[in-house]
Amino acid sequence: MSAPPLTSVGRSRPRPAWHVATVVETRRETPTAARLTLEVPTWPGSEAGSHVDVRLTAPDGYQASRSYSIVSSTPEAQVVLAVDEQPDGEVSPFLVHEMRPGDQLELHGPLGAFFVWRPGESDRPVQLVAGGSGVVPLYAMAAAHGTADDDAPFRLLYSVRTPADVFFADELAALTGPAFSLDLVYTREAPDGWPDAVGRLTRETLAARTLPAARQPRVYVCGSTGFVETVARWLQELGHPATAIHTERFGGL
Ligand SMILES: Cc1cc2nc3c(=O)[nH]c(=O)nc-3n(C[C@H](O)[C@H](O)[C@H](O)COP(=O)(O)OP(=O)(O)OC[C@H]3O[C@@H](n4cnc5c(N)ncnc54)[C@H](O)[C@@H]3O)c2cc1C
Repeated sequence: MSAPPLTSVGRSRPRPAWHVATVVETRRETPTAARLTLEVPTWPGSEAGSHVDVRLTAPDGYQASRSYSIVSSTPEAQVVLAVDEQPDGEVSPFLVHEMRPGDQLELHGPLGAFFVWRPGESDRPVQLVAGGSGVVPLYAMAAAHGTADDDAPFRLLYSVRTPADVFFADELAALTGPAFSLDLVYTREAPDGWPDAVGRLTRETLAARTLPAARQPRVYVCGSTGFVETVARWLQELGHPATAIHTERFGGL
């Protein structure tokens, strides 16, 4: 048997494999999203930002699989996912509405070596930019940073439709402090008294609410394909080198 793959700082990285997962809890994350806690006895653990492929099998043998980022995981125990429903989608409405404790599904993972944050890898600051459910792997990074011995400052710019659509609202509030700051952009509806204009993220807001290129942040961008491509282009126009920008596209326009 060959040795497990090593990360750039020498730790071994969990090797992807198929696992059987049992749902232990489902709960509402937002009006359109659910948080699923899965028991996975063979799970090797995962790095913050990685994802799994979830495979569902119907009684007639039909299979469908989709990728979902890992909110958190612990070796030989639990994997937590957060799934937003795409109204016409094949898999996400099932995961959001139909999963019950005791149901089983298959996971392949952990996956994704590029879109991960590893504590102690760099002392450069980290800028996270999320659109909608794209916050899932970025929250995982911020939460991992919150418990790690790592001084790099973190900042999250989170574009979201309405206050009710904010994923991990309590957890993000609890993380906020000297080492982590949160900037919200509401695209459809803001809380009463919100000082900023409501609407889609603009290049000007991105420039004003993110770490400047001069501070040489490592940047992670995640959301729908269109969101990620637009933000990545603006970041480069604002002087961030392409090599500093890590992207994960969730699909859609
Ligand atoms: C690496 C990775 C990680 C992901 N992590 C998450 C996660 O943590 N949580 C989560 O909710 N989703 C995540 N996704 C998206 C997920 O894999 C599915 O694409 C999504 O749940 C829709 O699947 P579906 O079968 O319901 O829709 P489909 O039947 O595949 O598609 C239905 C329609 O919805 C559109 N669509 C699909 N995805 C999106 C999107 N993100 N935005 C807008 N329109 C879309 C499609 O273009 C299509 O028109 C991730 C995707 C990738 C690649």
